[in-house]
Amino acid sequence: MASTGAFRNGTQKGALKFDRPLSINSNPKSSPSSSFSSPSSSSFKSKPGVRRNSVGSLPGVPAKDDASVSGRVRVAVRLRPRNAEELEADSDFADCVELQPELKRLKLRKNIWDSDTYEFDEVLTEFASQKRVYEVVAKPVVESVLDGYNGTVMAYGQTGTGKTYTLGRLGEEDAADRGIMVRAMEDILAEISPETDSVCVSYSQLYMETIQDLLDPANDNISIMEDPKTGDVSLPGATVVEIRDQQSFVELLQLGEAHRFAANTKLNTESSRSHAILMVHAKRSVKGKDSALSSENGSMSSMLKTLKPPIVRKGKLVVVDLAGSERIDKSGSEGHTLEEAKSINLSLSALGKCINALAENCAHVPVRDSKLTRLLRDSFGGTARTSLVVTIGPSPRHRGETTSTIMFGQRAMKVENMLKIKEEFDYKSLSRRLDIQLEKLIAEHERQQKAFQDEIERITIEAQKHIFVVERNYADALEKEKLNYQKEYMESLKKLEEQWSKEQQKHGITKIELKDNGLIKTSVEEIHAVSSEEMVEVERLLQEESLLRKSAEEEANNLRNQLILWKRSEEARTSEISKLQKLVEDEARQKQQLEEEIAVLQSQLMQLSFEADETRRKIDGGGAGEVPNGLDSLISQVRHQPLQYSGDGKTSMAKLFEQGGEHASTYILLLSYCLFSAIHLSIVLDFFLIKLSVPTVGLHKILSLLEAEDVDVRIHAVKVVANLAAEETNQEKIVEAGGLTSLLMLLRSTEDETIHRVAAGAIANLAMSETNQELIMAQGGVQLLSMTAAYAEDPQTLRMVAGAIANLCGNDKLQMRLRAEGGIKALLGMVRCRHPDVLAQVARGIANFAKCESRASTQGTKIGKSVLIEDGALPWIVQNANNDVSPIRRHIELALCHLAQQEANAKDMIGGGALWELVRISRDCSREDVRALAHRTLTSSPTFLTELKRLRIGYG
Ligand code: ADP
Ligand code: MG
Repeated sequence: MASTGAFRNGTQKGALKFDRPLSINSNPKSSPSSSFSSPSSSSFKSKPGVRRNSVGSLPGVPAKDDASVSGRVRVAVRLRPRNAEELEADSDFADCVELQPELKRLKLRKNIWDSDTYEFDEVLTEFASQKRVYEVVAKPVVESVLDGYNGTVMAYGQTGTGKTYTLGRLGEEDAADRGIMVRAMEDILAEISPETDSVCVSYSQLYMETIQDLLDPANDNISIMEDPKTGDVSLPGATVVEIRDQQSFVELLQLGEAHRFAANTKLNTESSRSHAILMVHAKRSVKGKDSALSSENGSMSSMLKTLKPPIVRKGKLVVVDLAGSERIDKSGSEGHTLEEAKSINLSLSALGKCINALAENCAHVPVRDSKLTRLLRDSFGGTARTSLVVTIGPSPRHRGETTSTIMFGQRAMKVENMLKIKEEFDYKSLSRRLDIQLEKLIAEHERQQKAFQDEIERITIEAQKHIFVVERNYADALEKEKLNYQKEYMESLKKLEEQWSKEQQKHGITKIELKDNGLIKTSVEEIHAVSSEEMVEVERLLQEESLLRKSAEEEANNLRNQLILWKRSEEARTSEISKLQKLVEDEARQKQQLEEEIAVLQSQLMQLSFEADETRRKIDGGGAGEVPNGLDSLISQVRHQPLQYSGDGKTSMAKLFEQGGEHASTYILLLSYCLFSAIHLSIVLDFFLIKLSVPTVGLHKILSLLEAEDVDVRIHAVKVVANLAAEETNQEKIVEAGGLTSLLMLLRSTEDETIHRVAAGAIANLAMSETNQELIMAQGGVQLLSMTAAYAEDPQTLRMVAGAIANLCGNDKLQMRLRAEGGIKALLGMVRCRHPDVLAQVARGIANFAKCESRASTQGTKIGKSVLIEDGALPWIVQNANNDVSPIRRHIELALCHLAQQEANAKDMIGGGALWELVRISRDCSREDVRALAHRTLTSSPTFLTELKRLRIGYG
């Protein structure tokens, strides 16, 4: 059921493509030994991953030949034991089946003499335990899901044969009864690590082509979403619950069951008529070398390695409890109308058809016929590991249903899947990790800065205190010294005064004595003696004085020295402070550098994500050769020239990364962010090329870029528009937003061949709708296309232009104007380029035009010769009627038939040799319808018939 549509640049839509390899063992019956030789469950267990490759492989590493391993759908048959009713009612009859589990064979009795034998991957008898059933049917699938593959476990069979018993049993009374859902979740929860991994489930039911949420019954019309790139199918509207423990899962199943019961009562149906679908999403992060992605990274630079994002594997397990496979009574016995009855069975019969088509390798698999087949497109013929258990009952009364169940299982065994690991880089978590690292660095820096400041403050305060103490001590000491001096000075003064007065007294007495007694000599001598004693005393005192003074001076000097020392130490401290300040400054500089580095890292992260996306697109797009050249060169440009962001740009980039590039709004942000730089803009536009889903807001921006100054920007913008225009759903929006006018303007205003080619391609795509054809005409598009055709050299440009004109040729209303404005001349003129692609488009245009003409002539609105013949196209048509290139030949064959249907052309056609070609076509053309058309045309034209008769060519 895997199909991918390719809608790119060309005028034709790509046909559906089926990559489904043929099974080596497509008929399991034919080679039992190779397929079923292993004992017990091992045939189910062949683990995938022999060759692992992944969606997001890194740039520079060429994608290996493919990313998948083949895995056939495994089918087990399980027989339910006789129930009470059967024990009683069928007691006289043997079971209609006989199992040979060791041979993995089942014998189905046709009558007492005859039986058919079928082989299965596993044959489970009525005695098989639930544990064994789980291990054989589901465990290998669960293990694959944990390894990052998608997996499906499905039960098919008549109502009452044990589908729900096998899948949905909760085993609350007896743990041995637990079914596949419960056991699968136990295994999953045991394997995952809660810190890094997660498990989410949704549970819904499909009834009459409507999907209801079993976890939220009000949500009763859920739509299916298919990712056109990955082919992933999901139910975005369904409630998704994260599961952390087994108990909550069991409760969730109970809740679902209760809702299912209530819903079925309301809809007046039974659960046997609806399909229950449990989806389990397991997301696991991969340890380094386990990953396919990381093993491919050997050649990466060490810079990139530090940036390596974590890798996650996302496996999805789908468990489907199908509706009963018995044929529903179309008379509406369940109270349904016939229409309802058809709708009830639609999904199941569509599933049968798809499996038949896949089993027989048909080119077309009708996946889109029902919701069930859409939901299961990955399970059958897709990338999932799929296990089917078909359940049957023993009763001979239901032989018919049992036979058809067995046949279903047999066919399903022929379906081959290509298992593909779902592994990708977890850019979000890398971005988170970088953010956390950045925050840590900032916090650490702030902490250090604060510590420095505190330290400086502390040192300053201490120094001030010290200075204060020293100054005070010095002042105190000085004061004390001063007081001491004063005191000593006063004392010595006093002593001197006393001495002096004593001396005076002595002198006075001596003078008197001298006058009275005449004993002068003696007295003078005495006086001398006394005063010399005194003098000695004074001298001594003075000496003492000077000593004291000296010591005081020394003391003062000491203090002064101390002060100097203090001053020096203070200077040292100040210099230390300034050193610390310098350190702080250095730290700030470092912080800035770190921030710049982070910005660079983030830009590289963006680059990586581009490259990853691009590679993924490459892989998704089917591999080789589909990537536009511009993209490659741009990416390498980015690789060698890291992006530079100024100042506050960093923060906005960080924001962008938080959004993970997931939402369209992010692209717009990116777009506006990068507007100032052409090269950045080109990258963003290429990003759009990859994403191909731009909301209308973005469309206007992109369209406005078609008029940009920079030719590179214009080229990238026009490529984006062309890619958008290739999707039918976008075309109306593009035209509404004025895109068609802008594209036509580009043809007029630019001389760049690339722009011409891409714009013409976009116009060709838009020209597929009738409304747009008229618009192109009204806006003078034909002259512009003709002009482009006249000057273009590149065959691809010519192919696009020819394709656009060819589309216009198919519009009945535009015939005359198309010719009048030179469109036909231009179309015919392009045959100068002999490239087969161009010729095929010209031939298509001619065929379209001729068809319209022939229609008009049948309606009587056209009389006279074909314009094509008048414009001289006939010789080229005749020359190429048997061209080796089949599209050219096919279109021309049709064109000849259409021309021949206009009797007015008959003469010219005979003259130009076209009759021979028509005869040849009517006899040899490989397409039967064309052959018949040519034949009809020849026989209905009297002129041709006469000529044929004249030439004696038997015809009629
Ligand atoms: P279905 O879902 O196919 O309609 P159920 O699972 O509801 O069938 O089974 C019908 C009945 O048969 C239930 O009562 C179930 O318990 C019983 N049953 C089914 N398979 C087994 C089995 N292997 N062993 C015992 N009882 C079974
Ligand atoms: Mg059931």
